Amino acid sequence: MNTRLHELEEALRALAYGSADAVVITGEAGEPPQIISFENANLPYRILIDTMSEGAAALTPDSEILYANPALCHLLGKTSPAEIVGMKLYDIFPDQCAGALRTLLASVGNKKVAAEFDCLDQGGELQPAMLSLSPIINRGNTIGVMALIVDTTEHKKAMQHIQFLAHHDPLTGLPNRSLLADRCKQAIAEARRRNTQVGLLFIDLDRFKTVNDTLGHIVGDSILESTARKLQNQIRQEDTLARIGGDEFIVLLPALPDGKDASVVASKIVNAFLTPMSNAGQEIHISTSVGIAIYPENGNDFFELLKSADAAMYQAKKQGKSRYVFASAEMNSLLSYQFTVEQSFRDALLHHEFVAYYQPRVSIATGKIIGAEALVRWKKHDGEIISPANFIPIAEETGLIDPLGRQMLEMVCSQIQQWKLLNIPIFPISVNVSAVQLRADDFIAHFTATTQQYGVSPTELEIEITESNLIQEGITPLLKLEELRKIGHRILLDDFGTGFSSLSYISKLPFDTIKVAQEFMRHQSHEQQQIEFILIAIVALAKGLQKTVMVEGVETIDQLNIVTQLGFEEYQGYFFSKPLCKDSFEKLLTL
Ligand code: C2E
Ligand code: MG
Ligand code: MG
Repeated sequence: MNTRLHELEEALRALAYGSADAVVITGEAGEPPQIISFENANLPYRILIDTMSEGAAALTPDSEILYANPALCHLLGKTSPAEIVGMKLYDIFPDQCAGALRTLLASVGNKKVAAEFDCLDQGGELQPAMLSLSPIINRGNTIGVMALIVDTTEHKKAMQHIQFLAHHDPLTGLPNRSLLADRCKQAIAEARRRNTQVGLLFIDLDRFKTVNDTLGHIVGDSILESTARKLQNQIRQEDTLARIGGDEFIVLLPALPDGKDASVVASKIVNAFLTPMSNAGQEIHISTSVGIAIYPENGNDFFELLKSADAAMYQAKKQGKSRYVFASAEMNSLLSYQFTVEQSFRDALLHHEFVAYYQPRVSIATGKIIGAEALVRWKKHDGEIISPANFIPIAEETGLIDPLGRQMLEMVCSQIQQWKLLNIPIFPISVNVSAVQLRADDFIAHFTATTQQYGVSPTELEIEITESNLIQEGITPLLKLEELRKIGHRILLDDFGTGFSSLSYISKLPFDTIKVAQEFMRHQSHEQQQIEFILIAIVALAKGLQKTVMVEGVETIDQLNIVTQLGFEEYQGYFFSKPLCKDSFEKLLTL
């Protein structure tokens, strides 16, 4: 009788766990078995558990799974409960959770316990889940455990998003004022410890309100997004860029060895905005004014620094916009030389003081002009003409080479267009491109858009690039040049022989002409023989690589005779003509 009672107890327990729906009681010999069905009694709970979206499982006290609902199967990437029934709870979690799970299971006394664990989903990816365990108590004894497993992935994502929104600007995704304040506090604490300084740059777009009002808010928003990207490109990873208001951005420079170093970043920022932004094919000119405050000089906390930087930015606007100003007068005077040169350069760009001169390129075989090089000159309003040797290096250092190069390209393309309209015989004109310009992401797009705008075909415009300059920049500029070459622009390797040419590298460079540096024409007479050996080697190299070879700086008939004998195909130099302004060059062409 006891055995029967025990069997009945087992059967009832199976019913309680949901792993059985009915109990079959066999009668005396010869009598039909009696089936006691509890199906209907269980049904509402069954439906409830089977349709809930949380995973649920009934466990024995030692965590063997007796029943699992479909949601749990889904969560674990299983197709049917049969795949997990019989397993231990910790078997369905990744191995690294086993220890923590055992501890949690051991802590189930007569109360509910919960903890977060990672489950493995169908794709084998870890996903966070909340596991709660409740004891099943019968007459004071724990006869099993109910496990509830909730996938918390979406909840976590939502929480992270809320966290992000609390600290970031929704339009640009940049840190907002509160995150900036926090980072600034940390930077100040760090600077105090290490005895360094902190820079806070207050950046405001000039005339943004007008642009926003005339072009509309959609364009306005897109300008702010482009501004964020442009600013991000000017700073280091450890700096923080934040947007704190409509068109107000802040750059935080932590751990500056010297506060005046902030001017390097400020100058890069102001200069980057001299290149127009493009929006849906339209060029938008928008400059920036920057105010700089330095910890500890201009404030001891974020709010003081912000106030000082804001006031300095206001001064920058007052002084004519598109510039930076330090909050402290001493710092401004310390930088005055560099600042003045740069500022007058920026003004020269804005007032179009740069002009193109043209120097003919001559065929040695025929003595006829076969092209010309466009060379920039800075023509000041008082008429003084400044040679590029005096400003190209500064322009390259400050990033101003980019807007300058773009202006030159426009001038040259527009000139070619005019010569064509006037039926003046035209030749390919070459423009000098600094490898620094090739760093700009939109270099190719801008180059091709400009040539198309003025109806200049690729064969009419060639590119000169200094060899040593190019080699320092790595592979990206080479790919860009190759792209222009594929369109049909010829590439001239300028000032060849002055850098430390890596000869193995030469064959990989995309170019059509070697232009030997003018230094080879300027040497002492006792060096003549050696120089000639080098020139012979360069001509042989060019011919072997099937490139055109030319030389610049030819000033005398003797020099011309020598380069002719050595096998050069073209030359450029004062012997034929100095670089000429547009009008003089036109006269030379129509002679
Ligand atoms: P480069 O491209 O090698 O230009 C040749 C330079 O040699 C020019 O100097 C030209 O005036 C000078 N030159 C030509 N023939 C003779 C000669 O017979 N004797 C002497 N003594 N000099 C001669 P420039 O115009 O002063 O330009 C200097 C450099 O500045 C250029 O060297 C080029 O690297 C750079 N540059 C000029 N215009 C631009 C420009 O628009 N963009 C960039 N990125 N660089 C430019
Ligand atoms: Mg050149
Ligand atoms: Mg040259």
